[in-house]
Amino acid sequence: MTERLLIETLDRLASNGEYVDLWLRDDDCIEPTEALDAFLGAAARQKMPVTLAVIPAHTGEALAKRLESEPDVLVTVHGWSHENHAPAAEKKRELGLDRPIEVIEGQLREGLEKLTRLHEKRLFPMLVPPWNRIDPAVIERLPGLGFNSLSTFGPEKPAAVPMLNTHVDVIDWHGTRGGRDPDLLFAETAALCRPGGAIGMLTHHLVHDDVVADFLDRLFGLTASHSGCRWRSAADILASPAFPADQEA
Ligand SMILES: [Zn+2]
Repeated sequence: MTERLLIETLDRLASNGEYVDLWLRDDDCIEPTEALDAFLGAAARQKMPVTLAVIPAHTGEALAKRLESEPDVLVTVHGWSHENHAPAAEKKRELGLDRPIEVIEGQLREGLEKLTRLHEKRLFPMLVPPWNRIDPAVIERLPGLGFNSLSTFGPEKPAAVPMLNTHVDVIDWHGTRGGRDPDLLFAETAALCRPGGAIGMLTHHLVHDDVVADFLDRLFGLTASHSGCRWRSAADILASPAFPADQEA
């Protein structure tokens, strides 16, 4: 079992007095469902902070009410309506320059306003682009629209706002569309562990099967109180990285 690989990696960090930050981003949330209850329940049992990427156009009061009882859930902005505007032959995207940039700006502004109204203090002004794709010109406009950060998938890049990405996707989108092999997920996570780094786990509660649920339970159980890592919210990591640059010299 490769979970051993992750534990050994975290043990090594801990023995050096170091740790890696872990965070959980769950996408495509709209409304309360049994799947959302199951996911939030699993996270809450181990006191895992959750960052939900909510689709503004399709969400409303029901989700806001459901989240009132969750102490450790942040809401972020998942595009506007999660609509694909790319030509048929290209990869799906909502925030490419397939429409005038003013239209995209208007929707992002409206999305941030709507989620701020619904979720007030729970709202964290991070943009999570649908399909993790966004044109660089749109990124340039984010500070002016009120966003303080951006989250996609893969290595972070310098941008007009700080980036905090996800790096491990639990779903096999191009194959079974169910959970990926837990051994692979543990190995990927272990390989990404760097002292002072942050690893984002990407989940989609609406399509989780037993494989994903079992993996998350094992991951949470193994790491919840390990001193080689800290589960933190996106807001906490961006506010104070594990090892700030001025302490590394
Ligand atoms: Zn999405």
